[in-house]
Amino acid sequence: MPDVILRLALPSPLRRLFDYKAPAHTAQTVFTPGMRLRVPFGRREMIGILVEVVSHSEVPADKLKPAIALLDPVSPLPPALFKLCLWTSQYYQHGLGDTLSWALPVLLRQGEPAEARQERFWHAAADARLDDPRIARAPKQRDALKTLAQHPHGVAHQLLSKLQLNKDSLDLLLAKQLVSVEVRRHGPGPRAEHWLAQPELPLNEEQRAAFEAIRASLGGFQPFLLAGVTGSGKTEVYLQLIHECLEAGKQALVLIPEINLGPQTLARFEQRFNARIALVHSAVNDRDRLDAWLAARDGEADIIIGTRSALFTPMKNPGLIIIDEEHDGSYKQQEGLRYHARDLALVRASQEDIPIVLGSATPSLESLHNAHTGRYGLLRIDHRAGGAQQPKFLRLDVKSRPLDSGISGPMQQAIGQTLANGQQVLVFLNRRGFAPTLLCHDCGWLSECPRCDARTTVHQRSGELRCHHCGHVERVPRQCPKCGTVDLRPVGAGTERAEERLAILFPDYPVLRVDRDSTSRKDAMTQLFATIQKGHPCILIGTQMLAKGHHFPRVTLVSILDADGGLFSGDFRASERMAQLIVQVAGRAGRAEEPGKVIIQTHLADHPLLVQLTEQGYFAFAEQALAERRAAGLPPFAHLALLRAEAHKPGQAEAFLDEACAAAEALVAQLALGGLELLGPVPAPMERRAGRYRAQLLVQATLRAPLHRLLNAWMLQLEQLPSGRQVRWSLDVDPVDLY
Ligand code: ADP
Ligand code: ZN
Ligand code: ZN
Repeated sequence: MPDVILRLALPSPLRRLFDYKAPAHTAQTVFTPGMRLRVPFGRREMIGILVEVVSHSEVPADKLKPAIALLDPVSPLPPALFKLCLWTSQYYQHGLGDTLSWALPVLLRQGEPAEARQERFWHAAADARLDDPRIARAPKQRDALKTLAQHPHGVAHQLLSKLQLNKDSLDLLLAKQLVSVEVRRHGPGPRAEHWLAQPELPLNEEQRAAFEAIRASLGGFQPFLLAGVTGSGKTEVYLQLIHECLEAGKQALVLIPEINLGPQTLARFEQRFNARIALVHSAVNDRDRLDAWLAARDGEADIIIGTRSALFTPMKNPGLIIIDEEHDGSYKQQEGLRYHARDLALVRASQEDIPIVLGSATPSLESLHNAHTGRYGLLRIDHRAGGAQQPKFLRLDVKSRPLDSGISGPMQQAIGQTLANGQQVLVFLNRRGFAPTLLCHDCGWLSECPRCDARTTVHQRSGELRCHHCGHVERVPRQCPKCGTVDLRPVGAGTERAEERLAILFPDYPVLRVDRDSTSRKDAMTQLFATIQKGHPCILIGTQMLAKGHHFPRVTLVSILDADGGLFSGDFRASERMAQLIVQVAGRAGRAEEPGKVIIQTHLADHPLLVQLTEQGYFAFAEQALAERRAAGLPPFAHLALLRAEAHKPGQAEAFLDEACAAAEALVAQLALGGLELLGPVPAPMERRAGRYRAQLLVQATLRAPLHRLLNAWMLQLEQLPSGRQVRWSLDVDPVDLY
């Protein structure tokens, strides 16, 4: 009989698999991919996942170690999920072992049994009597029995102390067989009889057209881009599609951006359905995450809602995938396995042969391009549900106008007018802190981070200078560290400064700030929103946290203090992001009775992209931006991969990238790959960050196939390069941020 050799994926950054002999006493075992094994690795032990069983290994037989133990009687990973992980690992050029580490619940990776938690329930025995002579002189036991008898469904073990049930008394009762213990599987109960807990809204014409188109595709792979303006009732369309899906006995997976994790999102699903909803995101503890994962896998969760990583939740009967706010940056993971959950969701939908809906008021240029080329069905909802009007946009040219804490005179007047009319104002400034930097008026010294090529932000309230890139914090100096004068001035304005100024300008109205500094307390947001919902005139000022999820029906003026950053940034995606933010912020405002107005302060009032956006709307802007991308040969008309490197000493990262570049050039020639261009190596836009020197090399390709052929061969070579040991390097396929 040939040897059984187990080829395992281990949680190691190396892009290779590891061979082991079968553990002792497993001669009868049928090994299947996905089973977990505990194995020796160097001086440690690791949990590996079986990828395949082979009969020959490169490793000499006497060097091959046996695995220590088999952890699963059957594979806990459904084949569909395994397939998705394999695809992910290959596409993103990431080791399979580490890919599985990102994709699977922590407890599974740690070797925890792939079983739902067991819960013990205490019951009074059916024939137990309180006047049983055996407890006549044991009042504690009698009391305990009495309490248990009041709970005909039993009492969960962890609730014993809450009901003042003493464990010792129960054990004594158990010995007398007056009580019993039942072990139940933790998790959701049985499936509901009727799905709807709340009636559905009658869809308007546009919603209905979108709904019908998608419904007709249930049962097979088809991607849709649901481009509906903010407040157009996209969520209602999702809910009704999910209902269809539930009726067909299928499960639905809904991905939402990190920031939308508010209780509102979940509440809408819970109010609508009598369904078992599994919540999957990073704030859910490991045990609950494993339970949610198992419930979804076993068909005991009907709806799975979560952020990026929830994409890897297995489903027994997959029916539909929804990606809400598909343009959102949080779908892209920026560390380790650098995957894009939206892009992977498409792969998954195709593999599982189900429809996928990408919804947004401001679709990404990638998705719009896919809609134009016919890969996605395009469904538009151009009107708000309930008849509310779209806000009107005004560009306010602030060239040579003085800015007072970032706010121009005409903007102040507009804010004052709105408040006087008894309405609310939303002020948007995507920069937290008091001021972006501190300047010495005497010698020109600027406050800089000692570890980054970046200025430190003044946080006045806490009296600190903070680096927003590495977290460095120091006290605001009293005098200039360079010349000693005391004339230090904050330059520019962040939300803290604008808030302070607005409170002085409009003392009769509350000014509420929403950013990461103001809302670190968990329920601060909720309280804030309750105040706003009351409808009294007030000013709401904040960063992009304001742009998402919430509706502020009483806001009639949106003041955007700075749109220019997005128009002259070196990042080719900056203008797209700026446009999305402006439209999303604007979409928070106005209702049927009171259409909103959006005023944008800018030094570039004639910039064609800004003109398009404000006069003709997001889709016109997107057309123009796509035309520019096409002309420049940028995504979605080209494909990128970015090799990043960083090191403690200057020059090391470049040295590695120079070698990497030479290796790539050789491979391009050797494999006769066309349409590939290597750009760099160049220093990263922020060359030093957190004390490391950074550089990058960009690969630009007209076609995907040659790009991936290069990457496959290239990564193996890079792992062997000696200069790679001195640097931290990583590859980002389809990078979103080029720094
Ligand atoms: P979106 O997800 O597109 O931003 P929502 O689904 O949140 O929009 O809908 C915005 C508001 O319109 C919600 O208060 C919702 O209850 C309401 N709404 C949605 N569809 C309808 C409809 N067909 N009739 C009446 N109101 C609707
Ligand atoms: Zn000075
Ligand atoms: Zn820093």
